[in-house]
Amino acid sequence: MFEAQRPKGEFGSSELPVRPALRHELNPNGSLTVHAPNHCPRRHPVPGSGTFSWIVALHLHSLICLRCRDEGHVDDHQWALIDPAYEQVEAGEAKGVGLELVAVPPAEDAGPGRIELRLDGHAIGTATFAVCPQDRTGVLEHVQVDAEHRGRGYGRVLALAAFSRLDWSTDGPHWVRGDRRVRALRGAQHGAGYAWTTTLIEDTPLARGFAKWLPLPTVGEPLYCRHMLAAAARLTV
Ligand SMILES: [Zn+2]
Ligand SMILES: [Zn+2]
Repeated sequence: MFEAQRPKGEFGSSELPVRPALRHELNPNGSLTVHAPNHCPRRHPVPGSGTFSWIVALHLHSLICLRCRDEGHVDDHQWALIDPAYEQVEAGEAKGVGLELVAVPPAEDAGPGRIELRLDGHAIGTATFAVCPQDRTGVLEHVQVDAEHRGRGYGRVLALAAFSRLDWSTDGPHWVRGDRRVRALRGAQHGAGYAWTTTLIEDTPLARGFAKWLPLPTVGEPLYCRHMLAAAARLTV
């Protein structure tokens, strides 16, 4: 069991790259199974060459690949791990320690909301987007990471966190009431079929590279539904 491998705590560095490689699965009986990556980014199998640890500086699990280290990647053989769908909190639940995805809902459902990536309580990156549960559509409007925190995969984590949202409601079906994260997870599991688009991508190497990575058929042409347009119009009145 993955959780059982947590005990070895390390302070580590808050500058570790973060991989969205954890996945929590909600079982029919309400329990959770945590799926950890079974290989490192260089495809070395975890059983045998990898080990999991807990990074105190980030409050996240990490993967250490001993084979990467032994092959000379001394500065690049450890990655923090996060589940962008499950490991989200709302502002009132944020602990202000480590790396946290904090959802800040809009005033109304299809309006623009955001997810902040906070390091020790300070926002260092943001994804801004709108989702419409009626039309099952979403528009990723902006992903921004502060310059001094770039190159660690934070933008990808923010985009995947956005794609996991189905709505901003905290009044979910009664069978999942009481645990917002389980609701978010259920949302992610049912999220297939949501059509996501993005606003225009900037013409910079960084933005182009990010757009190429996005798991979307097309980028750069936002498709706003009438609910999003109405919510945005009310916002500017
Ligand atoms: Zn490796
Ligand atoms: Zn709509």
